[in-house]
Amino acid sequence: MRKATGFMEYQREETMERDPLNRLNDWNEYKAPFSDETLKRQGARCMDCGTPFCQMGDVINGATTGCPIYNLIPEWNDLVFQGRWKEALERLLKTNNFPEFTGRVCPAPCEGSCTLAISDPAVTIKSIERTIIDKGFENGWITPRIPRNRTGKTIAIVGSGPAGLASADQLNQAGHHVTIYERQDRAGGLLMYGIPNMKLEKDVVERRIELLEQEGIDFILNTEVGKDISNEQLQTNFNAVILCIGAQRQRNLHLDGREANGVHFAMDYLTASTKNLLYGDVGGVDSINAEGKDVIVIGGGDTGADCIATALRQDCNSVVQFGKHPKLPSARTDSNMWPEYPNIFTVDYAHKEATERFGEDPRQFCIQTKRFVADQYGNLKEVHTVGMENTKDENSMFVFREIPGTEKVWPAQLVFIAIGFEGPDKRLPLQLGLDTVNGNVKAKYGDFKTNIENLFTAGDARRGQSLIVWAINEGREAARKVDEFLMGSSVLPSYL
Ligand SMILES: Cc1cc2nc3c(=O)[nH]c(=O)nc-3n(C[C@H](O)[C@H](O)[C@H](O)COP(=O)(O)OP(=O)(O)OC[C@H]3O[C@@H](n4cnc5c(N)ncnc54)[C@H](O)[C@@H]3O)c2cc1C
Ligand code: SF4
Repeated sequence: MRKATGFMEYQREETMERDPLNRLNDWNEYKAPFSDETLKRQGARCMDCGTPFCQMGDVINGATTGCPIYNLIPEWNDLVFQGRWKEALERLLKTNNFPEFTGRVCPAPCEGSCTLAISDPAVTIKSIERTIIDKGFENGWITPRIPRNRTGKTIAIVGSGPAGLASADQLNQAGHHVTIYERQDRAGGLLMYGIPNMKLEKDVVERRIELLEQEGIDFILNTEVGKDISNEQLQTNFNAVILCIGAQRQRNLHLDGREANGVHFAMDYLTASTKNLLYGDVGGVDSINAEGKDVIVIGGGDTGADCIATALRQDCNSVVQFGKHPKLPSARTDSNMWPEYPNIFTVDYAHKEATERFGEDPRQFCIQTKRFVADQYGNLKEVHTVGMENTKDENSMFVFREIPGTEKVWPAQLVFIAIGFEGPDKRLPLQLGLDTVNGNVKAKYGDFKTNIENLFTAGDARRGQSLIVWAINEGREAARKVDEFLMGSSVLPSYL
C-alpha cells in the first residue's frame, strides 16, 4: 500500500452527473466519468484493511453485504493510485467477467461494508471499477481470448442475461463449445431489455456480446426453448444444459379496473421504450408513450424509478410513485449496523430528475392503491388510494392498517405496476418437470443441479429477482459445476 494516509487527507467525491434537466432531452447515460487525477485520490482513500469486508460478499439479514463476486478491491484501489491501470484491469478481470455492467449499475454493497464507512463516507469503489474497465476498452487492452484447445463437449445455455453470459464465458474459456438460446431479438437479458439506456447504454451491452461471439460462443436469438425448439432436442444435442431464464414473471395487482386501457406492467413499458429507442417507434402494444400524460408508478423500488426516468424523457405531464412502506431513515438504525447494506433514504437519479422537473420528490409513502377507474371508452382516468400506517396488532406484531379519512383520487392516464416479480416464466420448468421452490427453479446454491440429470440452473431463475452481481456469481459458480460434471474435475476458479 503506497499511500497510508489517503483516507485522512482526501474526501470522497461523488461521481459527476449530467445536469438533471438537460439530460431529460436525451437517452444517453446520466453519469459522467471521473478524471484520472480524481480517481487516483479516491483510490488512495482505501485503507487496505486487514479484513476487507468490501470484498467478502454474503447475505446478512436478507440483504447483500460486500461484493458477491469477491472483487479484489484493495488491490486494484492501490494499483489505480499508482497509475498502474493495466495491472488493475488484470486483477479486476480475475473475478468479474463484466465490470462494465457492475461498474455502472451495481448498487455497490461493497461500499456499504467498506471499513472507512464506519466513520466516514466509503471509498468510491464502483466508479473506480468502471473506470478501470473503460480504460481497458479505450486502450485496446481487451481483445478476444480464443481458447487454444477444445474439449469436444457441448453446452446449451437458455437465456442470455448476466447469469447465462457469465456461465458461457467461463465454460468457453475452459474449452467447451457453448451455444446460448435467447427468445428476444437481442442478447443481454435485463441488461438489454429492462435496465434503461440512461443507466446502461445498449452499445456497452452489444460490445460485450460481440466479444463473446468472437471468442467462439454461438448466440441463437428469437428462439424460445420449449416453443421454437424442444427440450428433447437440447437434451440430446448437448452434453449439459444450464437454465438462466431469469425471474421476469411480474406480480399483478388484482383490483377493480385493472383492465382499463393505460394500466401496464412496468417491464412491458421499459422493454417497449428500449425497443423504440433501438428501432424507432414500432407501433401497436410496443409503443406505450407517456407524452402529455399523468403517470402513476405503483411500487417504490428501482424498477419503478426506471419507469419515472423513462416517462420524464417522454415528456409526461406529471409523475408520482406510490410506495407501501414508510420513508426510510436518513441514517443507519441500531438494527442495521455496519457492515450490512445501509437501509437508508436515498435519492435515485429518477427522483432527482422528477424533483427538478416538477419541483417536488415524486414519492408518496404509506399509500395503498384501492382501484382504477376508466372513462366511458375504457381509458384510465383515475386511481383511488388510501393512506396506511404501520402499527402493532393485539399480538404486538407490526401490521399495515388503512387510515380512515385518507382516501384520495388521483387523475391518471397511465399506470405502471412495479410491485416485484414472482419467479421465472412457468412454462419451461413445467414442460421439463422441474422441481420448484417459491416459484423458482429448485437447485441448491453451490451445486446448481436440478432434479434432471444433465440440467443445471443459475441466476434469478434459481434465486428470484436479484442483482447483476449475483447473476454473475451464480453463472461463474454453475459453470464450474458443469465443468466438473463433464470432465471429472475443473480448471475454473470457485470461491465456495
Ligand atoms: C427494470 C429492472 C432494473 C434493474 N436494475 C438493476 C440495476 O440497476 N442493478 C442491478 O444489479 N440489477 C438490476 N436489476 C436486476 C438484474 O437485472 C437481474 O437480477 C439480472 O439481470 C438477472 O440476470 P439473469 O441472467 O438471471 O436473468 P435475466 O437478465 O432476466 O435474463 C434471462 C433471459 O432469459 C431469456 N429467456 C427466458 N425464457 C427463455 C426461453 N424459454 N428460451 C429462451 N430464452 C429465454 C429472457 O428473454 C432473458 O433474456 C434490474 C431488474 C429490473 C427488472
Ligand atoms: S461488483 Fe458491485 S459489489 Fe462488487 S466491487 Fe463492483 S460495485 Fe462493488
